[in-house]
Amino acid sequence: MNDSINLKDYIREIPDFPKPGILFRDITPLLAEPAAFQAVIDRLTDYYRDKQITAILAAEARGFIFAAPLALALGARFIPIRKPGKLPFETRAFHYELEYGSDSLEMHTDSIHSDDRVVIVDDLLATGGTISACIELARHSNAEIVGCAFLIELAFLNGREKMNGCDVFSLIHYD
Ligand code: 5GP
Repeated sequence: MNDSINLKDYIREIPDFPKPGILFRDITPLLAEPAAFQAVIDRLTDYYRDKQITAILAAEARGFIFAAPLALALGARFIPIRKPGKLPFETRAFHYELEYGSDSLEMHTDSIHSDDRVVIVDDLLATGGTISACIELARHSNAEIVGCAFLIELAFLNGREKMNGCDVFSLIHYD
């Protein structure tokens, strides 16, 4: 059974990537092991199964990897959130500040509705900047944001505090 799989065993730590001083958590060994990848989707599905989820939102690119199979497993819609200029229909943008500079994300205006029950997914929660931008985009539609799900949470960066009371579920923690 995949209950016995320790997901942390499949995360590779890469020092000084993408910049000196950063210890990057590389998820590609986990993606290369079908039993571990399946265990991630199963554990997320178990957590949200009885929560009547209608839409899964995720920001490119690594969020898509987990969001799409989770959406299928829950029978929910998959809604991509993308970098500016990538989505072809009418979009809503959210601009946010980074440590150095700013960034923005976009979502199609017709993608979620006020009666949706939404989960937002990403591979990793660090400072919470990316996921807060996704939460702001989702809030515009007045949908119910049931929670945010991550494969990895870097708990020492306190990203949870930016979630404004949104339920956070993560499978691997680094304290
Ligand atoms: P935050 O916005 O919470 O500071 O950063 C989270 C975002 O940066 C996620 O979208 C994630 O893909 C990316 N990220 C930051 N650090 C890492 C890392 O060590 N490993 C991986 N896989 N992604 C990271």
